[in-house]
Amino acid sequence: MSKLIVAKFGGTSVADFEAMSRCADIILAEPAIRLVVVSASSGVTNLLVDITRHADVAERYTCYQGIERITLAVLNRLDNPQQAAPEIETILSALRELIENGAVYSGTHKDEIQSFGERLSSVLFAQVLRERGASALCFDARRVMRTDSRFGKGEPQVNQISELCAVHLQPLLADNIVVTQGFIGADEIGQTTTLGRGGSDYSAALFGEALSASVVQIWTDVVGIFTTDPRLTEQARCIKEISFDEAAEMATFGAKVLHPATLIPAMRRNIGVFVGSSREPKAGGTWIAKDVKDRPPYRAIALRKSQTLITVKSPAMLHAAGFLTRVFDILSRHQISVDLVTTSEISVALTLDEGGMTSAFNVSVEPALSELRSFCEVSVEQGLSLVAVIGNHLHSSKGITGDLFNTLERINMRLICHGASKHNLCFLVQDADAPGVVKQLHQNLFSAA
Ligand code: ADP
Ligand code: ASP
Ligand code: MG
Repeated sequence: MSKLIVAKFGGTSVADFEAMSRCADIILAEPAIRLVVVSASSGVTNLLVDITRHADVAERYTCYQGIERITLAVLNRLDNPQQAAPEIETILSALRELIENGAVYSGTHKDEIQSFGERLSSVLFAQVLRERGASALCFDARRVMRTDSRFGKGEPQVNQISELCAVHLQPLLADNIVVTQGFIGADEIGQTTTLGRGGSDYSAALFGEALSASVVQIWTDVVGIFTTDPRLTEQARCIKEISFDEAAEMATFGAKVLHPATLIPAMRRNIGVFVGSSREPKAGGTWIAKDVKDRPPYRAIALRKSQTLITVKSPAMLHAAGFLTRVFDILSRHQISVDLVTTSEISVALTLDEGGMTSAFNVSVEPALSELRSFCEVSVEQGLSLVAVIGNHLHSSKGITGDLFNTLERINMRLICHGASKHNLCFLVQDADAPGVVKQLHQNLFSAA
């Protein structure tokens, strides 16, 4: 196959029948789109997560009813609902069974339950395409999306995914548009896993890599990647072209439009990624590529709320070797991933994205903290936001910190990290200050351009 495009449609893009129909228009207008990766319809994964949090069956049922309502609303708009109805009923009844049986859900059950959203939307979406005259198949991503058994944040096994795709998926693409699920996978023994919240973007890129796609398209509810979250300021502008490095930094530091790991497979295979709006497909979008013409010092501002700052202090650290190793060894044994780090003579401060896209949702930090407390003073501050200025040559450009400090004159900047990366400069402020800081900073850094 000469040119193959993998197209991913996010939650709002497959929220209801009209939204799915708009996505079908996009697919039918581009014959190179052979693999379609869908998210759960908007709101469904949140309801599934709620189910896993309730021990009470009646409360679980209330969430289930919300999911059923969203699903049946699409089903009933189809021309031939009876063609999808048996499969939808099989999936819904499997979900009901889990709701009734489960006592308190473990990791494996949580992922199994969270997989239902994509399983439902993919069956419905394939039928929407068939009713538009396409030869469309629904394919269970778990047959090929092999991960390890880390529930909540399965690690994709790239070589096996490639081998499995070559055998089970590639042969189907010649004569069909294949619709599959984002976000979900399975481990070696077939247990359902997930790639973490927002993981459908990552799935699309992994499929793109395995199938040697020429382009991965991410269709969402914004017309591309903006200079900051357009919900934070109306001055945010769409970026036409951005490098892998910069977009990866944006995703890592909170630009929700892409899952943080999305660009890793794309960079490995140099696959171009396009981000556009399924509502306004003709409005253009953002191209993410290895080489871009323009490398401005300031590209974007990202924001990640609800960060935790941990300060570890010990007089024993003074001139001592091995203290940091000990601290990081404990964090790594507890699978806690650290973001920002600053050190002083006898203390080290670090931030964690607890519960966020860059951490496993089922990892608790408490056991690690109590180990640290056995040999140092530990303080924990919450309610902080990480603001990241993303750009190029930030570590070696003049005036960067001046621009920043002018904006933050009246703000308590709790921590700052600058110098390690040429692509970002990060700092922490109180959650309540963060939206104002981003708005003001955006005004100062981008309004002149
Ligand atoms: P999908 O369901 O399609 O995956 P998401 O809600 O995960 O969509 O991501 C799209 C959202 O990302 C947008 O509605 C926007 O509010 C948010 N977002 C955050 N930062 C940015 C940014 N820099 N550019 C564009 N969108 C952003
Ligand atoms: N449905 C999943 C979520 O809401 C994955 C995704 O939409 O990317 O997190
Ligand atoms: Mg998303």
